[in-house]
Amino acid sequence: MRLHFHGAAQTVTGSQHLLEVNGSRLLLECGLYQGRREESYRRNREFRYDPRNVDAVILSHAHIDHSGNLPNLVNQGFTGAIYATGATADLSDIMLRDSGHIQEADAEFVNKRLRKGESPVRPIYTQADAEKVAGHFHSVDYGQPFQPIPGVKATFFDAGHILGSAAVLLEVKERGRDLRFWFSGDIGRFKLPLLQDPVLPQPVDYVLMECTYGDLPHNDPEEAYSALRAVVSRTAARGGKIIVPSFAVGRTQELVFDLNRMVAEGEIRPLPVYVDSPLAVNTTDVFRRHPGYFDQETAVFVRENRHPALEFPGLRYIRSVEESKALNERHEPMIIISASGMAETGRILHHLKNNIEDSRNTVTIVSWQAPHTLGRRLADGDKQVKIFGETYNVRADVVTIPGLSAHAGQDLLIQYAASIKQDVKKVFLVHGESEPAAALTGKLKEQSVREVFYPELHSSIEL
Ligand SMILES: [Zn+2]
Repeated sequence: MRLHFHGAAQTVTGSQHLLEVNGSRLLLECGLYQGRREESYRRNREFRYDPRNVDAVILSHAHIDHSGNLPNLVNQGFTGAIYATGATADLSDIMLRDSGHIQEADAEFVNKRLRKGESPVRPIYTQADAEKVAGHFHSVDYGQPFQPIPGVKATFFDAGHILGSAAVLLEVKERGRDLRFWFSGDIGRFKLPLLQDPVLPQPVDYVLMECTYGDLPHNDPEEAYSALRAVVSRTAARGGKIIVPSFAVGRTQELVFDLNRMVAEGEIRPLPVYVDSPLAVNTTDVFRRHPGYFDQETAVFVRENRHPALEFPGLRYIRSVEESKALNERHEPMIIISASGMAETGRILHHLKNNIEDSRNTVTIVSWQAPHTLGRRLADGDKQVKIFGETYNVRADVVTIPGLSAHAGQDLLIQYAASIKQDVKKVFLVHGESEPAAALTGKLKEQSVREVFYPELHSSIEL
């Protein structure tokens, strides 16, 4: 068996790991590489292997850095099955269409501003390309073994990261040899709203695992809950609005569930909550179709409060632009959750523009913000920001709530690897920058996991 590292190797983006077993090829993830425009175009369009020779794909979860290059794989001749949980298949479908739309819009934006002699750029893929992926999905539940390629038995386990997210156990038979391999996907966290806790690995020979936060322990999600509750109470008491830039998939649904709990338990005064993002609305529909993926706490909450997890009096989901604009005309305290999560594009920009100069309001940052984004500038405390080319004075309160990350912190990553340390021959760290990888490597060696690797892009190893 040979393992090739074709993405998320010494970085966090573009997950792609290829296994060769018994002459067949199994691809774990086909994520979009996100970086500078030209490099992204090249890396996503030019595979280092022939997509026509890939026999099957296993997809751990729907995030674009894991699923987002499937349209190119299919476009370039992949004809096999993509195995994923039902929720992952449904979420991927809407996220890939959205991604295709974004790629087209980006290319159009660049092409409108071309200088003389510059040739037009093409989208990495189109929405029409993305739509072709859906027909390849084969849904498999957690705990149900399946055979993606001859000689390999695969089983999904809940990764507790986003709805439908999975780790996968591969039991491989090759030339009379038995070998057990665990791929972590993205590792979630204990006690996240809505989701089951991650399942720790079983004894295996090899582990391929993420290390995004290999150098950083996380706060308890309950602390984030308390911080959010304090922001809502304080802002509503002074008659302000709470504006939350949020990723449409995952984070928005978790926030809605937390707000639902606060209202139901009388911890905050009921106030209108608006989820203003068509992608978030579509995503929430997928969540509603898959209540079986929710954790026990959510099931009990739903039973006791007699309304669904992502619905409560005062909550409204907004699709239309008119309804979104109409929120400006209303002046009572309210919560507006809107995308994009780093306030770079989307309707959140209008809400920020209209509310940022009013000192009664609070902009609430609930996720990591990349450098040079508007969300990052606000989180860093800039007093003036540009939105749609105009300068605005930041008079609203800006509060960052840490601890809502969907990724395991260092403590859980150590616990994760330590759960298999007696048997494991090699651990491969992917999906992390060099500092977290080095920190986690050190910690794992303290746990007497001896062979920890941080593979280079396009390298491979015989197992
Ligand atoms: Zn993820």
